[in-house]
Amino acid sequence: MSGQILTGKEVATKIKQEVKIELEKIKEKGINPKLVAIQVGENSSSQVYLNAQKKNCQTMGILHEVKNLEPDISESELINFIEEMNKDKSVTGIILQLPLPQGMDVRKIQSRISPEKDVEGVNPANLGWIVYGRPLLAPCTALAVKELIYSTGVDLYGKEVVMVGHSDIVGKPVALLLVDKFATVCICHIGTSDKGMLEQHVKRAEILIVAVGKAHLIKGEWIKEGSIVIDVGINKLNDKIVGDVEFETAKEHAGWITPVPGGVGPITTAVLLRNTIIAAKLTSCL
Ligand code: NAD
Repeated sequence: MSGQILTGKEVATKIKQEVKIELEKIKEKGINPKLVAIQVGENSSSQVYLNAQKKNCQTMGILHEVKNLEPDISESELINFIEEMNKDKSVTGIILQLPLPQGMDVRKIQSRISPEKDVEGVNPANLGWIVYGRPLLAPCTALAVKELIYSTGVDLYGKEVVMVGHSDIVGKPVALLLVDKFATVCICHIGTSDKGMLEQHVKRAEILIVAVGKAHLIKGEWIKEGSIVIDVGINKLNDKIVGDVEFETAKEHAGWITPVPGGVGPITTAVLLRNTIIAAKLTSCL
């Protein structure tokens, strides 16, 4: 058996089409979304992300501005700058580019982004809405994973889901989003591997999601026949970008599997645009 390849392209295109329609509607009502990306110092990998972000916004017709701040800015100065952006009525969405300079408390600073302008869903209030089962502005990657699973048409009710990775913006929110659809969710992490239990958990997953950042951590033979495999990981291996799952062997067992690159990534970008529209609506209702 060879699994269907779940490329993000189709789902991403559909989301972008919906965003375009919604954008036209809110522009007619006088709301003009503007996304501000705050970049502290320079970072080549976040620059790539920034350029893509700008291009996507421009193509869609969403204003995008990058605010470059000096690398030696203090934490309180950065928070003050965020507060300024929170108050600026022309700004409807804020992204704080990571990484921040060493020593800065990322979570503390993210918590100062106004929840209504928090297009990446990293403010504790937005993460809290997921716990309530009422996601408003949830982390883009977590939503992208959910969209991919939905695109298979599989009913989540009672399904055995194994989420490998428990980060605040991927693993934990994905687990919460799926448990609210009554999936049976198990979260694995480094402790699971250290106890030698990862293979055992992965083998019974009807839906497997992996967000770790270790090339080929998940062996192809561990994949349950007919399962859905969503690989969030991005790793460089011998000058190639690969995921956390051994794709070639895994696809022989999976029913559906995402490639890396080209799976989760394109949907994450589309979801960011959708969140930008939601944020613009929320801020204009203030
Ligand atoms: P993270 O780096 O914050 O955390 C890694 C997680 O993996 C932790 O839960 C840790 O306990 C677990 N882990 C580490 N080693 C492990 C092992 N040997 N066995 C089992 N679990 C182990 O995670 P993150 O920020 O969610 O990023 C994970 C990966 O996803 C990275 O490769 C990142 O680049 C990628 N990512 C991709 C997108 C996208 O849009 N495609 C978005 C965000 C992150």
